[in-house]
Amino acid sequence: MADQGVVLAAPGEVALEAIDVDEPGPGEVRVRIDATGVCHSDLHAIQEDGWGHALPLLLGHEGAGTVERVGEGVDGLAEGDRVVLGWHTACGACAACVRGLPRQCKRPPSAAGKLHRAGGSALTPFLRTGTFATRTVVPAVAAVRIPDELPSEQACLLGCAVATGVMSVLETARVWEGARVAVIGCGAVGLSAVQGARIAGASEIRAIDLDEGKREQATRFGATHVEPGPVDFVFDVVSRASTFEQALGMIASGGTVVVVGLAPAGETATVDLPALFRRRARVLVSHGGDHLPHEDFPRLAEWALDGRLDLASMVTRSGGLADWSDAFDAMQDGSVIRTVLTP
Ligand SMILES: [Zn+2]
Ligand SMILES: [Zn+2]
Repeated sequence: MADQGVVLAAPGEVALEAIDVDEPGPGEVRVRIDATGVCHSDLHAIQEDGWGHALPLLLGHEGAGTVERVGEGVDGLAEGDRVVLGWHTACGACAACVRGLPRQCKRPPSAAGKLHRAGGSALTPFLRTGTFATRTVVPAVAAVRIPDELPSEQACLLGCAVATGVMSVLETARVWEGARVAVIGCGAVGLSAVQGARIAGASEIRAIDLDEGKREQATRFGATHVEPGPVDFVFDVVSRASTFEQALGMIASGGTVVVVGLAPAGETATVDLPALFRRRARVLVSHGGDHLPHEDFPRLAEWALDGRLDLASMVTRSGGLADWSDAFDAMQDGSVIRTVLTP
């Protein structure tokens, strides 16, 4: 069967279409996508006309699949390996990597030039992965093996929502045992932050969301309260002026606001500077929880298997690639935690 992918061809023009997938080059692997989550960032890319990526853009970045072909010089991966794709990889050569901070890498590698519209122009894989597709090609560093016992429909969530939410807590903020935590916005990333806070041993986890159903849902993932209150850490997964200002208003002395969500272009917030000073507030920005796929996916997978991380309950809707549009509608009306598409 011919390959297919969901492509943003021009601003506002998205469609499932035929694509060509080349052989992997040196250091690359070709992966058959078994499952891909539908993330807010995919919608953000559509709304922001590619969000800095060259068009045409192959959407999707939260995928799990099976290695089909291994390029020259690839170690540690073989045909048939089950993998989760990671978009937040490290190049090993930029200033941050050289300083020993691969989680802050400025130039994650990509395998550009291996994907095309049928018979036509090169596709940019969104966030270097492009998972709304039957197959894709990625640098080997972006494919991380997962245990066979973890179903792809759950494993794919490790690639973005879960890595972002959990690692924002454990890595970006380094929440300590006994800390008081609040999470604003209880979608897939927010619920993952709630689970991260539970794993970190937070004494209090406040789930804040406009939707009562989502607040209630969060209690099943570990939230202990569903109303605001003074806390040591606030994770703003929504990132609008109102939520950021609410977050700054909630932290106790010495508290930290962690900006996790993607704000739309032009969004600005007002900061009460005397209050910021009085509270000795810290503001951190989390890019995907500063995760490093090779280090973090294996332990997240282990936690999923031993029950510390509930992935199954996060997948509340499924479909094929053709359902991409309905999946975005469901995301926007708030009726799902995560849709997972199985190409
Ligand atoms: Zn780097
Ligand atoms: Zn994402």
